[in-house]
Parts: sequence; C-alpha cells; structure tokens
Amino acid sequence: MADMPTTVAAIAAPSATEPLVRTTIERRDVGPNDVLIEIQYAGICHSDIHAARGEWGEIAYPQVVGHEIAGVVTEVGSAVTKHAVGDRVGVGCMVNSCRECENCLAGEEQYCLNGNTGTYTSVDRDGTITQGGYSSHVVVDQDFVLHIPDALDMKTVAPLLCAGITTYSPLRHWNAGPGMRVAVVGLGGLGHMAVKFAHAFGATVTVLSQTLSKKDDGLAMGADDYRATSDDATFSELKNSFDLIINTVSAPLPMRKYLGLLVLNGTFVSVGAPPEPMEVPVFALFNQRRSFAGSSIGGIRETQEMLDFSAEHGIAPETELISADQVNEAWERVLKSDVRFRFVIDIATL
Ligand code: NAP
Ligand code: ZN
Ligand code: ZN
Repeated sequence: MADMPTTVAAIAAPSATEPLVRTTIERRDVGPNDVLIEIQYAGICHSDIHAARGEWGEIAYPQVVGHEIAGVVTEVGSAVTKHAVGDRVGVGCMVNSCRECENCLAGEEQYCLNGNTGTYTSVDRDGTITQGGYSSHVVVDQDFVLHIPDALDMKTVAPLLCAGITTYSPLRHWNAGPGMRVAVVGLGGLGHMAVKFAHAFGATVTVLSQTLSKKDDGLAMGADDYRATSDDATFSELKNSFDLIINTVSAPLPMRKYLGLLVLNGTFVSVGAPPEPMEVPVFALFNQRRSFAGSSIGGIRETQEMLDFSAEHGIAPETELISADQVNEAWERVLKSDVRFRFVIDIATL
C-alpha cells in the first residue's frame, strides 16, 4: 500500500465554460473492499459534456468526468475476492448504490431508490464528489468493477461501459429479436452500439440519422435500412412501421413525427438525455396505443452479461483513439456529430 498514488493525473473542467485542463486530483486510500485501477483508456460520452457544462444542473468544479473506463488492477483491498492484481477491468457510470432497496436487490442498481453513486459529480461515501475516468487511476468498490473478457481489445472496449450497456439494456427489456422492427435514432456513440446489438439479437434494424453521410458505416454495422430525418419523405414512407424505436439523440426531437413511426403497441424509448424537456403530444400515443419510455444505463449483472455477449459475438465499438491533448477538440467534434463513432482517450498520454 505504501506506493499507492493518492495524487493522480487527470483532465478536469475548471468551470462550465472553460476548456478542460490537465491537473491532479486525490484518490481515496484503498479500503478493504476497494480495487485500485490503473486506467488505460477512457471513452468520451456526450453525457460528459452535458454534465461538465452544467446542462443537467449545477455541479462543483473542478470536475473530472468520464464513465467509460478500461484498465488494469494494480492493488486490491484485504477483503476483495472478485478481482486480482493484473486483471483487466472496467468501470461504467456507477461506483456504488445502497444495496438494500428492492431495485438494488433485484440487480437494478441504476434505479437505486436511494440514488446510485455516479462515477462523477456524485457525493461519495466519504462526502467528497466523485471524479471520473479522464484520469490515470481510480479507486472503486469491487462490486462495481466489471471483468473484461480476454476476447475484447482494451483499446476499443471502454465505450461498452456506457454506450454499450445503455443500448443493450432497453433492447433486452423490450425483447428485441427476430421479427421485431427496431429503429435507432442518431448514429453516434450510443446509436452505433444500438445498431450492433439489435442486429446481433436478430431484429430488423433501421437507422434514422440526420443525413445519409454515415450510411455505409451503418449498413456495415448490421443495419438493414438507413434513412435521413432531414427528408420529410422518411416520415411518410415509414409511418406505422417500427415495434421499437431507440432514441439516442442529445437534443429534443419533434415527437409527433417520431411517434407516428410506431405500429400498434409500439414503444419509443429515449436514452438520449437532452437538457430541455421534450413535448409529447398525447394524441400521437392514443393512436395505435403507443408508449413513450426512458431507460438509464443498466445494472452491474447486466453490464457483465453485455461484456460477455460482446466477447462471444465479436462486438466492439468503432473508436478513434486520441491523446490527452486532443480532448477539447474531440468534445467540439462530438457536439458537431463529427465522430465515428466514439472517441477514446489513450490515458498513457496523460
Ligand atoms: P453522440 O455520440 O453525440 O450521438 C448523438 C447523435 O445524435 C449524433 O451522432 C447525431 O447522430 C444525433 N444528433 C445530435 N444532435 C442532433 C440534433 N440536434 N437533431 C437530431 N439528431 C441529432 O452522443 P452519445 O454519447 O451517443 O449520447 C447520446 C445521448 O444519450 C446524450 O444526450 C447522452 O447524455 C445520453 N446518454 C444517456 C444515457 C442513459 O443512461 N440514458 C447514457 C449515456 C448517454 P446523426 O449524425 O446520426 O444524426
Ligand atoms: Zn455515458
Ligand atoms: Zn438501492
């Protein structure tokens, strides 16, 4: 324990409006149930930008974000049984929960009735604010650390920890499979994983993107059809044609048009988290008994299942590896939908 790096390198947001800067932060001592992880790769999720810029509510600064973490265990606490030094591990959007409420007991810690502890911007058990994965090391309770199967490449695996599970979970919950017509709105970080999982589950998949500029990529990922939402003909031609729509867009959508695409009993699930409310016209729901739903990441058991499924089926995120100096530029590109399809920070460059 003597050589534990309590002060570690990180990239932090100094405020809601300034660019990210290199800095150092403190990590807690490794407790009996904790694992110390040397982070190798950290994915850039659009949520990092929403959160750091205060779009979801005020936060404390400086703040380190990042909740797609892949690395290696370098130390374990005395009571740790699930992970060993040298293990390849991942951490996603949560680092703790109450473990007692009915949702935690059901393995749905993301819906903890007492509020789960987010990987960043949450109040940790020691009263400090959690700091995320744009950093060289992190200390996490063993129960919230995932095992990365050998078949998955460390360089590209990190986005599975948020983009992967956030799309896998609703596709499983709403039973995406053979015979089901699924549309994925937005082909960014989450969207491209939704296409890969829906295709792997056997569903018929249509991408609804703003333009056709990423059509070849979408089809290569397993989409059966690809349409531009900038073209109004898309909404008339595809009226009443999907059982399930997974919306991954980070901005509000004109819901009347999108709900019209659902068949009888169809469901529109938003995983996209725009800061502004979305208006849902109820008559578009009455017509065809449609549902409007939301879904938040996934539980720890399901996240491990998703990683194992990805290893078994050869599913991996499409990533662009960047250095620590390119993070501000990468954020600007995410905001312009100019990413194919997830940026991953090479933490060795930090
Ligand atoms: P992303 O990589 O930026 O992808 C979002 C995609 O939405 C873009 O690539 C773009 O796709 C489309 N888009 C962007 N602006 C648009 C606009 N004004 N109108 C129509 N389409 C637009 O973001 P992400 O990391 O996948 O995250 C997507 C959203 O999910 C964010 O709001 C994020 O906070 C949220 N999220 C939620 C959860 C959860 O648990 N529910 C977890 C993670 C992330 P095209 O270029 O194809 O049009
Ligand atoms: Zn995320
Ligand atoms: Zn709970």
